[in-house]
Amino acid sequence: MDIHLGQDLGNSEEDHILMEGTLSRVPTGVRSLRELIDRVMGKGFTIPEVQEDSGIAEVIPFPFLAIVNQYEMKIALLLALINPAMGGVLLIGPRGTGKTTAVRGLLDLLPLVPKSLCYYGCLPEDIETMGMDGVCPDCARKYAEGVPLAVMDRARLVELPLNARLEDVIGGIDERAAIHQRLRLQRGILAQADRNVLYVDEVNLLNDDIVDALLDAAAQGSYTVRRGPVSATYRSRFILIGSMNPEEGHLRPQIQDRFGLRVIVRGLESDDERLEAYRRVKAYLANPRSTVEQYRLESELAREEIQLARELLPKVELPDKVARVGLKWVKELGIDSLRAEITLFEAARAFAAADSRELVTVEDLKQVAPMALRLRKSSFMSDYLSQQEEEQAELKSLMERT
Ligand SMILES: [Zn+2]
Repeated sequence: MDIHLGQDLGNSEEDHILMEGTLSRVPTGVRSLRELIDRVMGKGFTIPEVQEDSGIAEVIPFPFLAIVNQYEMKIALLLALINPAMGGVLLIGPRGTGKTTAVRGLLDLLPLVPKSLCYYGCLPEDIETMGMDGVCPDCARKYAEGVPLAVMDRARLVELPLNARLEDVIGGIDERAAIHQRLRLQRGILAQADRNVLYVDEVNLLNDDIVDALLDAAAQGSYTVRRGPVSATYRSRFILIGSMNPEEGHLRPQIQDRFGLRVIVRGLESDDERLEAYRRVKAYLANPRSTVEQYRLESELAREEIQLARELLPKVELPDKVARVGLKWVKELGIDSLRAEITLFEAARAFAAADSRELVTVEDLKQVAPMALRLRKSSFMSDYLSQQEEEQAELKSLMERT
């Protein structure tokens, strides 16, 4: 595996690399996340014995790496974990293609993020960007005394249920406190998702008011709730992952544009793959714990790779001449939204980081371009604009004739 963290770490496959308290084992021969995915895909699989039913419902997600094929979906989701600036992922496809299974499987791969120790969610980075006014007085004092404001903790996967009410999403009056005649606001799902992954299944079926709240929060990274005399502003910087089945309804262009990568998830084509997927699901249902155990080592490796890629990401540069190639594609495809190139470039940076490289190449752009650029062109807008141009020409010639 190549790990470049600004220093030469040697080539021995036996290297142990100590990074900020975490021991990173260097897997023998795995050079990148892509290679790990490829290798695990063909992993031999033993059918476990049926687990005795304890009667306790436990949530053990199906291992992400045990999903058969679906390469593009896997890569898109991993890139989203590496670079939140990419704008998340939208998974589009019929039911039963493993979209939700894949997203829930990310649980074991989530990276470490700073978690505030303060009720108001103050973080050291707030002081870096806004000075002492960026945090509450208590945290300002702590910072001056050298007391940490945050700890590193695993990111969480927060799901926005389809039947959520606006109040659940943005937060509302704390009813328990209200009984004691105190008016207090309760954090909503969007605030809970801050710094975490927010998964919205069937995003095309959400009510408009909830979609609007989601879009505002995603765009600004924070939102304000007002209830009578009380108001509060919450942070909401999350990695947005949505899924939808186009058979069931249309997605507003405004929200579709908000998603970074777009993956069309199709059912498995080959009989061999379908049979393997069936065997794995059957094994998982019979004994989830043993199935997860069979992938434990690879899952740990993938998590470490993601963490390393995240740490490398700030150093990954996009050379001007590579960026111009990307811009040319966006222009030739007639895409207006600036989010096209933001996603294209940020996804390519994440891709390079996942390969332990500090320079983005045209090849990186090519790998992510279909996911970043598809479904960006609006035929309505291009028709509308060409009509406008015609009218403009008509007006001009009229003026000239007079
Ligand atoms: Zn604070």
